[in-house]
Amino acid sequence: MTITENIHRIKADLGENISLVAVSKTKPSSDIQNAYDGGQRIFGENKAQEMASKADELPSDIEWHMIGHMQSNKVKYIAPFVSLIHSVDKLSLLKEINKRAKQNERIIKVLLQMHIAKEDTKFGLDEVELENLLVSNTFESFQNIKIVGLMGMATFTDDESRVRNEFAYLKAVFDRLKKGRFGENNSFTVLSMGMSGDYKIAIEEGSNMIRVGSMIFGARNY
Ligand SMILES: *Cc1c(COP(=O)(O)O)cnc(C)c1O
Repeated sequence: MTITENIHRIKADLGENISLVAVSKTKPSSDIQNAYDGGQRIFGENKAQEMASKADELPSDIEWHMIGHMQSNKVKYIAPFVSLIHSVDKLSLLKEINKRAKQNERIIKVLLQMHIAKEDTKFGLDEVELENLLVSNTFESFQNIKIVGLMGMATFTDDESRVRNEFAYLKAVFDRLKKGRFGENNSFTVLSMGMSGDYKIAIEEGSNMIRVGSMIFGARNY
């Protein structure tokens, strides 16, 4: 199967309103160009400098999504062009994104990452931390970021019901914020959940943005 065939096969599973982020981390630009030639426009990377150098050599209408945990000092590399940062879980990071967005005279869209898995290796906010972040005064002053939704990663397990419950939980938090805290803000619309191994379950539980890497580009060698 070619990269484009893989993408088409996955897209056949997606409804109208679900977007596919093709996760190209560690893969060469030639693979991204292949996917691009087949019509794919959204790509996900997890390292700022890798994203920046790929963006430099690939078509400018690609939408680059940062999906990996970020250190504040790396935001500057992607601030001029990144279209969505999925993995924001700290006020200090939001502050830096806001600052760099302002320097670049743009508004950067972000998702808040929630910790939904049982593993403690995965980053993200719990519900209390999320609430605390949302009520903080500092947060209110950020003019150059727009929070457009939530992201989460389920536990890496064969236990389907556990994965399903974790996604359902994230969807419930998303719906609650959409009605409450973000009720006025109709740009709070993105629920990013689901990867190669679990995107079908994620969609059944209400995901509208999936992040798929190995099923498109093949296994990664780290
Ligand atoms: C690597 C990665 C993915 C894609 O994982 P696959 O299992 O290869 O589909 C999705 N989301 C995040 C946050 C990742 O780091």
